[in-house]
Amino acid sequence: MQGAALPALTWRLSGSVELIDYKSSAATSPESAERSLQLSIYALVCRDALDLGRPERVTLYCVDESRRSSAERTDAALDALRSDLAARARAIRASDFAPTPSPRSCGWCDFAGLCPVSGR
Ligand code: SF4
Repeated sequence: MQGAALPALTWRLSGSVELIDYKSSAATSPESAERSLQLSIYALVCRDALDLGRPERVTLYCVDESRRSSAERTDAALDALRSDLAARARAIRASDFAPTPSPRSCGWCDFAGLCPVSGR
């Protein structure tokens, strides 16, 4: 399996929804679902745009290894994410692209040699 795929929504017997994102990469670690911004955004869309309620859990499923990593997202966490995304959207609309250097992001940035604020 190659490339990106949309996540699957699975209805559990309880009537709740489990959101499952299938991955071909072996990079899925047990803590991956806990930290995944992508899964958080999918959960937010599920709750607020699709009106399906907050998923009972979110899961990364590594197809190559038949391994899964699951986590929960609270309403408070999704509310905070929604506010954060709205703030980012406002900054983009205002053309606020101030650099945010950090050793991590600048470490792999192709423009670090040109950037006046590189954190390298
Ligand atoms: S080197 Fe500059 S452009 Fe690249 S990530 Fe760092 S701050 Fe951003």
